[in-house]
Amino acid sequence: MSLLYKSTRNSGKTVTASYAILKGLAEDGGLFVPTEIPRLSVSMDELKDKSYQETAFAVMKEFLTDFTEEELKSCIEKAYDGKFDTEEIAPLVKEGGAYYLELYHGATIAFKDMALSILPHLLTTAARKNQVKNQIVILTATSGDTGKAALAGFADVKGTKIIVFYPKAGVSRFQELQMVTQKGENTSVVAIHGNFDNAQSGVKAMFEDKELAKELDAFGYQFSSANSINIGRLVPQIVYYVYAYAKLLKNGEIAQGEPINVTVPTGNFGNILAAYYAKKMGVPIEKLICASNENKVLYDFFQTGTYDRNRDFVLTTSPSMDILISSNLERLIYLLTGEDDTEDRRMMEELRTKGAYEITDQMKEGLADFAAGYASEDQVKQTIHEMYANTGYVLDPHTAVASSVYGEYFRKTGDTRKTIIASTASPYKFAGSVMEAIDPEGMEADEFKRIDKLRELSRMEIPKAVEQIRNAPILHTRECGIQKMKETVKEILGVS
Ligand SMILES: *Cc1c(COP(=O)(O)O)cnc(C)c1O
Repeated sequence: MSLLYKSTRNSGKTVTASYAILKGLAEDGGLFVPTEIPRLSVSMDELKDKSYQETAFAVMKEFLTDFTEEELKSCIEKAYDGKFDTEEIAPLVKEGGAYYLELYHGATIAFKDMALSILPHLLTTAARKNQVKNQIVILTATSGDTGKAALAGFADVKGTKIIVFYPKAGVSRFQELQMVTQKGENTSVVAIHGNFDNAQSGVKAMFEDKELAKELDAFGYQFSSANSINIGRLVPQIVYYVYAYAKLLKNGEIAQGEPINVTVPTGNFGNILAAYYAKKMGVPIEKLICASNENKVLYDFFQTGTYDRNRDFVLTTSPSMDILISSNLERLIYLLTGEDDTEDRRMMEELRTKGAYEITDQMKEGLADFAAGYASEDQVKQTIHEMYANTGYVLDPHTAVASSVYGEYFRKTGDTRKTIIASTASPYKFAGSVMEAIDPEGMEADEFKRIDKLRELSRMEIPKAVEQIRNAPILHTRECGIQKMKETVKEILGVS
């Protein structure tokens, strides 16, 4: 059976999965969604003995139905290999009353690797299937982790170029170093004088710019996206929730069919939406707990039904969640409207013009699958400190946001269901904030001294990704204002 995709802003027109991946964003500015969310066709009993790669195939074949079995398996094999420093790919660690699903064992030590190690393969396969002659230019806005994971995934991939925009003052020192030391003939990195929302809006505007598309086409280029607005990012992220449930079952932590909760540190709403899709596929997930940092626009939305980005943008120690426009929420909104593209368009237009929209009471009922909370900077620090003091386990600040929110949820509701916490980054990626929380006295000024200090204190080895940039030369120094993003892209591509 073949599954098709349509835009959240135009329910009438359908396209194949490979076309949706190739495009990234729909022409009308909407996000591609499947016409229905497929059910898993294998039981958890069968899945519990499967490897990560086998689970990936079982999940992804339901969504990417125009890829052949051979194509899909080849993409999966190339993605989930020795680039990951653990054979399980996504290990589960039981600590402090929850199960931490460690999604940071890939090449760039953040969860973005889970999807971005496969996206380049899906995309080049999709280009072949759709007889695309142009070079694909991957245009990416990053709040810190997507950029590096996408650069690593696309570096020197034939037929592609990648341009990454990151907020100059909005990423950690380590994240910035990871990006500006990126090798690869086809890679470009640009620091913008603005925040992540500016970067993302600028990129989205270029996707919607028909004139620009024409100019690029004349030079043999077309855009695609590595952001989680691309369905090719979202689908691989569903896999690890299925995998984690199956592993809990295999390890005897839960009984067959036992409902669990999932807590996700959230920014652009991609990761938690993948968990929601997993639930719709049949994984027994009860509550999806959406954890925000001090940029708590989503928490307020779940409380009130009003999404309002009119507020100060806070720079926190969890920069990858410093976002006020959570793009993937549009996919949930669309479902809540009963797939009404007119309503979706109306609300997104309000978001664009007024910075806010409100959902109906009926739509609010659809939010019952979710719970939400947020953590202050103090709570994040305290959570990292306490976890380390009590167990020796080290959390990065993003995962600590989720851990703190889950703790509060548990105290408030008394909900004793087993809970998975998506652990989204290695603490080594945020050694400064982590050291500040566990040993402020021993704080070093130099990033790599902090990393070495953290190694002394923690039971976790320093990942390869850290050593790779320790002495790497800086290769990218380009900067631009938020008004100049389009010109910068044209300059990089030599289009004018
Ligand atoms: C991107 C990111 C998040 C947020 O994920 P979304 O899918 O954008 O909600 C959380 N933690 C880390 C470390 C990230 O890189």
